[in-house]
Amino acid sequence: MKLTRISLWHVPLTSHTAYYMAEGKTCDTVETVVVALETDTGATGWGEVCPIPHYLPAYARGVAPAVQEMAPLLLGADPVGPEALMARFDKHLQGHVYAKSALDIALWDLTGQAANLPLYALLGGRRSETMPLYHSITCVAPDEMARIAQTAYQTGMRQFQVKLGADADWQADVARLRMVRQAVGEGPLVYGDWNCGATSLDATRVGRAVADLDIMLEQPCATIEDCGRVRAATGLPMKLDENAHDTASLLAGHARGCMDAVALKLSKFGGLSATRRARDLCLHLGAKMCIEDTWGSDIATAALLHLGASTDPARVLNVCDLSGYVAPRIAPDGPTRDQGRITPPDGPGLGIRPDKDVLGPPDLVLD
Ligand SMILES: [Mg+2]
Repeated sequence: MKLTRISLWHVPLTSHTAYYMAEGKTCDTVETVVVALETDTGATGWGEVCPIPHYLPAYARGVAPAVQEMAPLLLGADPVGPEALMARFDKHLQGHVYAKSALDIALWDLTGQAANLPLYALLGGRRSETMPLYHSITCVAPDEMARIAQTAYQTGMRQFQVKLGADADWQADVARLRMVRQAVGEGPLVYGDWNCGATSLDATRVGRAVADLDIMLEQPCATIEDCGRVRAATGLPMKLDENAHDTASLLAGHARGCMDAVALKLSKFGGLSATRRARDLCLHLGAKMCIEDTWGSDIATAALLHLGASTDPARVLNVCDLSGYVAPRIAPDGPTRDQGRITPPDGPGLGIRPDKDVLGPPDLVLD
């Protein structure tokens, strides 16, 4: 099999609910980048990356120039066994892991199609039939967040990420965590996420004020060192997200004792190949994993579901149905949430069919 053409689209994704986070960060309409890799056998592999610039050191319009840089290595190459080609990319162009993420997903899609197997079979074998989802709650008034949590609870959701810090009012954050916990009762997982936006002082005050509750904290501060101090001062379990993006940072989070859980997002690490290596390291380190991506629609969602389904379910904290938060759906036949859980596709490769009418004509074609 040989790669013959690269096509790329920019697609605006609009959230069903605008997301408000700490430090004025919002997520409303964000551009996602879709990549198609065509081959001489007629098979097409699909990839997607939707970098949120305030989350990753990356932006959507940076993907196409990076893909153009890597195109000479892609065209004419054999896509089967993506890690061989990814290693060549890394020698040719350092960094730019977000752009490589979309290409890596597309290469895995082609590899799965060549093997006539769903990707979970190639990423470790199927370990679970369905996986738990979390529901992310935008940072608004505490009573409104409790209402959103209760509505999601009634649909079967049992894990709730409470965005904190949008009004820089630590006492409001205490109310958010207390009211969401009360709304969903004992048992479900509730965690407060500052997206790096808190000082260690404010995060410690919030953590101590809710320390009588079953609460996890997520990425309160901008550095692993400050997150570690909050973890030590509050005694509350902690999930790392923004700070955990490669082998060194996973080891650092573990060494600081603040990585009870960690978000493994495909675009932070550089696609399925790199995130699979991170997954295997986390199995060794003992962290529970949220397997997901920064943002995106059905292609990114299908990719992360295959990695999640091939991971020991005892170590999967949750996965994310990104495509359920946004419109349009790029592949309307992709998986959707059911009673707070989700099932990966069973077809070869990613197992989804992107809708070319939704995509329209490509913005870039290289052949
Ligand atoms: Mg997070």
